[in-house]
Amino acid sequence: MAYGTKDLPLAKPDLLQEAVRARLAHVRKATETFGKYGTSGGIDNYEKIGNFPIKNWREGRWAGASKISGVAMHDTILTGRKACMHCPIACGRHIKVTEGPYAPMDCEGPEYESIGTLGGLCLVDDLVAVAKANELCNRYGMDTISVGGIIAFAMEAYEKGVLTKKDTDGIELGWGSGKALVEMVHKMGKGEGIGSLMTEGSKRMAECLGRNAIEFAIHVKGLEPSAHDPRRFFSQALSYGTAARGACHNASWSHPYELSLYMPEIGIPEAQDPYRIEGKAEFTAKLQDLMCVMDALIICRFSQVGKAVTVTNHVDWLNMITDWGIDIPEYMKVGERIFNVKRMYNTRLGVSRKDDFLPYRFMTLDRTGEDLTNQLPPMGRLLSDYYGYRKWTEDGIPTPEKQKELGLDEL
Ligand code: SF4
Repeated sequence: MAYGTKDLPLAKPDLLQEAVRARLAHVRKATETFGKYGTSGGIDNYEKIGNFPIKNWREGRWAGASKISGVAMHDTILTGRKACMHCPIACGRHIKVTEGPYAPMDCEGPEYESIGTLGGLCLVDDLVAVAKANELCNRYGMDTISVGGIIAFAMEAYEKGVLTKKDTDGIELGWGSGKALVEMVHKMGKGEGIGSLMTEGSKRMAECLGRNAIEFAIHVKGLEPSAHDPRRFFSQALSYGTAARGACHNASWSHPYELSLYMPEIGIPEAQDPYRIEGKAEFTAKLQDLMCVMDALIICRFSQVGKAVTVTNHVDWLNMITDWGIDIPEYMKVGERIFNVKRMYNTRLGVSRKDDFLPYRFMTLDRTGEDLTNQLPPMGRLLSDYYGYRKWTEDGIPTPEKQKELGLDEL
């Protein structure tokens, strides 16, 4: 983070204001429904197409999904929308609960990933319990995605007898229990009893528990996945595997591009077939590079919803701010450089192909559920294509030539 005391003059402030204003009406229109129902507005559809995470990633259909969706929240406990500074989209939620076991609540509401992991993965269809767990995570300073993934792992361990009631201090850790969900968040937040081990994450917890726990500890590089099933989007499989910090959807944010989005100016002329292998590596890598440069500029992922803001807009506006006169390929090169720096850092820590695979469940288990198309991501082939496109070695290490091309050889 950089701080300063002086003003940063804009190169072409009038042009910039005019350009942003001209785009604003489009942004509002393109994101209207998204803003109204929030990030979790599409849960019903995600459940229908097999993207929603259910029962620790074991199943593909769940009627409870619609009870915890953004639409259900809108119709029940939502009291207002929240926005980051100056954002016209306002995807954030504010909720109020005045009755029941979790009242009173007057706080931020859960967004999609939190509902997917605290709700879907744990089979909790009580929206208020999920909202309570979300609020507690925020207060304890814990990431909702990891907490949901770890509790789902613990629920499966409990079901399989790897954890017992004695381990949970008497908590009945059954699937779908909102009460147990909230109690376990407290235990993790306070580092109390089994909660202390759970805060180590599902990877270390599985190693400690032994037996076959490793088979259902769902993580990549120690990070629990976000609420997008890589068996539904192969680019998400590849990106979960290769992202620097593990199974993070934000590394590529590619699932909307495999559904309906496109960005011709970076070589993605149309929405992609989620299961097509050919071209998947290039498509995924390009989006990872784009997300890196967007993060560097602090551009929200959701500005891409409905093509509200495009890469052409980014580059035009950046040039109006800086007068750098860069073009789209140069802009994308910045992202590629950032992605490679992160990989080189990980390489020093010993990360290579062996760490880029997905948990067994994603690569070997067909989910159950009516009308569900199951496709298991062929990670070996996907990784080989990907390393080839990135000009990395077959072990997944940036080659000296690639480092030189990016001006990183001195690192
Ligand atoms: S900046 Fe992004 S996260 Fe923040 S309110 Fe706007 S759309 Fe939502």
